[in-house]
Amino acid sequence: MPEGHTIHALAGRLEAAFAGTPVRFSSPQGRFAESASVLDGARVESAEAHGKHLAIHVEGERVVHVHLGLFGRFGVRRHRRVDRGEAPTDLPLTGQVRMRMVNRTHVGDLRGPIVCELVGLEEWQEVEAGLGADPLRGERLPQEVLDRIGRSRRAIGAVLMDQSLVAGVGNVYRAELLHRHEIDPHTPARDVPTRLVHEVWDDLVRLMPLGVRTGRILVSDGDVGRAEALLADGGTGRVRPRYAVYRRHGKPCPRCGETVVKEAMAGRNLFWCPGCQV
Ligand SMILES: [Zn+2]
Repeated sequence: MPEGHTIHALAGRLEAAFAGTPVRFSSPQGRFAESASVLDGARVESAEAHGKHLAIHVEGERVVHVHLGLFGRFGVRRHRRVDRGEAPTDLPLTGQVRMRMVNRTHVGDLRGPIVCELVGLEEWQEVEAGLGADPLRGERLPQEVLDRIGRSRRAIGAVLMDQSLVAGVGNVYRAELLHRHEIDPHTPARDVPTRLVHEVWDDLVRLMPLGVRTGRILVSDGDVGRAEALLADGGTGRVRPRYAVYRRHGKPCPRCGETVVKEAMAGRNLFWCPGCQV
């Protein structure tokens, strides 16, 4: 599943491509056809992400709310008919496109989302109200979230994936952050010292924007340093990530040598080291 940094990067691409322009909306596959016809020709105002949820704001306080789920894809690219002066309606199409957006310069094709719905601004705000703190939106961990984590008996590994508490963190960041801070994923959240919760949060605030910029989940100090140096040189910063535990089950932990294990937690595979995450 795309993690929050992917959706934030997508929102940035959508905004750069469509904000401030009239957009032809359609639903070649048909399941969004009614809403697309309502929106067709309207001006897109902005796009934003909250956790793994995406909102495309359209004039008239209307919002296209999208969640990609496990298999959704939203491709945005320049099309080759930029010289016509208006949005072309005959661009080639492949696969099952739920929603297509086209303006003079760009085309966006949304395929296979678990959510693609037209809602009013208030409904979108209700969705947002149910989402937790997003490291990519705020600098400080809200006290309310801290309090809820401090009361929870659930495993910290499950709490980190609870989108109503912390929005946007997925499987890779969960595994690597817990390893970085030597936290046993099974520890009840309320037994994790507040200082440590803050440290994990601060790491997410620091690391996830690098994920947005590079399209890579970079967590090790070496990877982060190399990516930042490449970015400073005007590059993409796309270094090949090296993980300590993620998908490294059966291999030795780079910190303590114990064998990394895999198990299911909160519906997803969890990777961790029983040697040093205690
Ligand atoms: Zn270890």
